[in-house]
Amino acid sequence: MNIIVCIKQVPDTTEVKINPKTGTLIRDGVKSIINPDDKSGLETALRIKEEIGANITVISMGPKQAELALREALAMGADRAILLSDKKFAGADTLATSSTIAGAIKKLDYDIIITGRQAIDGDTAQVGVQMAEHLNIPSISYVEDLNICEDSIILKRMFEDRYYKVKVKTPCLITTLKEINEPRYMKIKRIYECFDESKLEMWTLDDIDVDESNIGLSGSPTKVKKSFTKGAKTAGVKHEATPKEAASIILDKLKEKYII
Ligand SMILES: Cc1cc2nc3c(=O)[nH]c(=O)nc-3n(C[C@H](O)[C@H](O)[C@H](O)COP(=O)(O)OP(=O)(O)OC[C@H]3O[C@@H](n4cnc5c(N)ncnc54)[C@H](O)[C@@H]3O)c2cc1C
Repeated sequence: MNIIVCIKQVPDTTEVKINPKTGTLIRDGVKSIINPDDKSGLETALRIKEEIGANITVISMGPKQAELALREALAMGADRAILLSDKKFAGADTLATSSTIAGAIKKLDYDIIITGRQAIDGDTAQVGVQMAEHLNIPSISYVEDLNICEDSIILKRMFEDRYYKVKVKTPCLITTLKEINEPRYMKIKRIYECFDESKLEMWTLDDIDVDESNIGLSGSPTKVKKSFTKGAKTAGVKHEATPKEAASIILDKLKEKYII
């Protein structure tokens, strides 16, 4: 069984600061971590490896500093790590990010691809499912539990108020929620070994199977015009009213705001 886990390095906070002039994230001085959903995705892969045996490759697209996230994944138990790093990948939106990572995955053997549900900085939850489209394989998002059975996987897919039990054939892509498990700590011996250069590969555009027009800024149909933080909410207004009066008050407010 070959499992690929996609890992994004993100700032260690949900209170991301934005540069008001450029509209980009201020990353300087902010500690970086493995995106929490992705760490649980890796833990899922490690548990499959322990149960039935597997070879785990972790992939990240990002600047050189993202190699630290990959080394942490190696120290947790991944077998191979690939950092997709090339100036031509910079400025990618979710579509260009998914094209780039899928282009790398086309060069590898895989049965299961695991991504997190979403990254805590970009927060779009698009990259995983877009990758499945590029690779033309089924995808199941919001996975909170799974069992491997021969060439299929039985998954618990969460919704807000219920879940579906889904059976899918491999190869497939799943996006995991951090609630799926509690990621393990790194092993001391593996921390030492994860700095072995041969375990971490750096790939550029030349190493992957993707058209240059589909990557980086030029391959990104989404352009961020402005990023801003919403101001604090004002206190609400309480009305003592009968249900009929309450309905009328709500109706008036909705009309006032041109919602209806
Ligand atoms: C409004 C906005 C502003 C942004 N600004 C910046 C910025 O200033 N700087 C910046 O670096 N990025 C920025 N991004 C994010 C950038 O577009 C992302 O690299 C990329 O598009 C991933 O999108 P996401 O973070 O929404 O991932 P999601 O779709 O939420 O991620 C889902 C999963 O896909 C996988 N994944 C996603 N990205 C990667 C990756 N790079 N490598 C490996 N696996 C990955 C992970 O497993 C992750 O859990 C911004 C995104 C948005 C929407």
